[in-house]
Amino acid sequence: MTHAIVWFRKGLRLHDNPALLAACEGARRLYPVFVLDPWFVNPERVGLNRMRFLLESLQDLDRSLRALSSRLLVVRGKPVEVLPGLWRQWQINRLTFERDTEPYALTRDGQVHDLAQPAGVEVIVCTSHTLYDPDQLIKANRGRAPQTYQSFCKLVARLGPPLETVASPASLPSLAEVTEAQYPIPSLSELGYPAQPEAEPSLYQGGEHEGLRRLASYLSDPARVASFSKPDTDPTAFEPPATTALGPYLKFGCISVRTFYTQLQAVYAQLKSHTQPPVSLLGQLYWREFFYTLAYVTPNYDQMVGNPLCRQIAWDDNEPALRAWAEARTGYPWIDAAMTQLRREGWLHHLSRHAVACFLTRGDLWLSWEKGQAVFNQLLIDADWSINASNWMWLSASAFFHAYHRVYSPITFAKGYDPEGHYIRHYLPVLKQFPKQYIYEPWKAPLAVQQQADCLIGQDYPRPIVAHIEAKERNLGRMRAAYAVAP
Ligand code: FAD
Repeated sequence: MTHAIVWFRKGLRLHDNPALLAACEGARRLYPVFVLDPWFVNPERVGLNRMRFLLESLQDLDRSLRALSSRLLVVRGKPVEVLPGLWRQWQINRLTFERDTEPYALTRDGQVHDLAQPAGVEVIVCTSHTLYDPDQLIKANRGRAPQTYQSFCKLVARLGPPLETVASPASLPSLAEVTEAQYPIPSLSELGYPAQPEAEPSLYQGGEHEGLRRLASYLSDPARVASFSKPDTDPTAFEPPATTALGPYLKFGCISVRTFYTQLQAVYAQLKSHTQPPVSLLGQLYWREFFYTLAYVTPNYDQMVGNPLCRQIAWDDNEPALRAWAEARTGYPWIDAAMTQLRREGWLHHLSRHAVACFLTRGDLWLSWEKGQAVFNQLLIDADWSINASNWMWLSASAFFHAYHRVYSPITFAKGYDPEGHYIRHYLPVLKQFPKQYIYEPWKAPLAVQQQADCLIGQDYPRPIVAHIEAKERNLGRMRAAYAVAP
């Protein structure tokens, strides 16, 4: 007589969910559980937008389970402490979950595994957060993670397509001994987050239904898919953004990356030609997979010290400069507009992430990428341990990318996309009335122009916290010195 718990963590969906199917297999009772771990429920670690997205995703999952005469049980506490009590209470003998390769999850899941075995609970772990099982990739690559994107692409070309997706369950085993009042989904304020003003609905509504809808909508335009070329997309486009903006849905597994892959291949099959990795849409899924594989096997991947891939650089410590960057007060409108978009909406275009990361590290402020990583980790809805660390190392020229002389200008880079400064005017209304000529460099505007724009620089909007050209030259010298010694 099988009583099973399916433990949802990421993978907040019914489609392509092998852990859910494994829990259902021959079971008399099924308890769909999500554990709200106090480690995550911390506004300093997980910002408001991400927590809201998570709660919306849980509500959507709950609705889907209810449509199959079940529901989601949200348990509060540390998984290692609450799960053993639940499996005693419900006479559980099977626990299934999706594999998670982040260090925190690996430790947690190892501890749960150790507790389950003596309690007679069979543990089934399924891979579905990535296209491939990372162990399979590493084994096929002679025991080593591919070190470059190109070698990764060659490896997957040799291995063939990932495992096929699995169907959603048509019915679920029943749930017993739980009343409607038990294990509810909490509200943001119950978790210590400020309630969101209703006038500002989230641009990224959480959940499997919304994720699948957005995926279908994006893929419904074959010409757009065929020509998708990441470096050519416009970072200043915001209504709608120039890329899929599916990151949040992939991060929480509201959409399966294998479903994304399968549907994308179906569109490619209808096309005469289309772009290729690294710039194509498939190329983006491969970046994700490549970084996941490397992060899985590299020690101290989210740190500089003890990380064998990361160049050791003597970054400065400057808390006021870090705060100015994080709080959109650098005095460079393009940087501040991007950081405002990030804080307000929880998402930022890839090239904007490039620009603000370059500014914080090797470009202007010479602060450690780890500090920027922490800010992104708090503010991004799609904050992802493996991908965030990888890209921060990239942008700071600490790993993967070594052309450190290529520095993003906080003044001219975005101007090429948006000479009128629509993006800046949207996110920084204080600068709205500046003439086009000064919108990227408002400190250069004569006082009369500032007065006419109803914004005095140094009073209503900050002066630049750093002189870009001088900082860039100084930092290039420091980079040269860092590259002159062995990594
Ligand atoms: P699309 O271009 O539509 O791509 C689709 C999906 O492919 C993305 O959702 C993502 O899952 C994957 N993908 C795309 N680009 C990359 C990439 N460079 N590396 C790995 N996977 C990629 N992405 C995150 O998902 N989480 C992060 O925490 C994160 N931190 C970043 C930090 C920095 C400093 C930089 C420069 C980039 C970071 N990225 C991160 C990568 C990238 O910017 C985002 O994945 C992308 O902008 C999300 O928007 P999208 O969904 O429209 O992407």
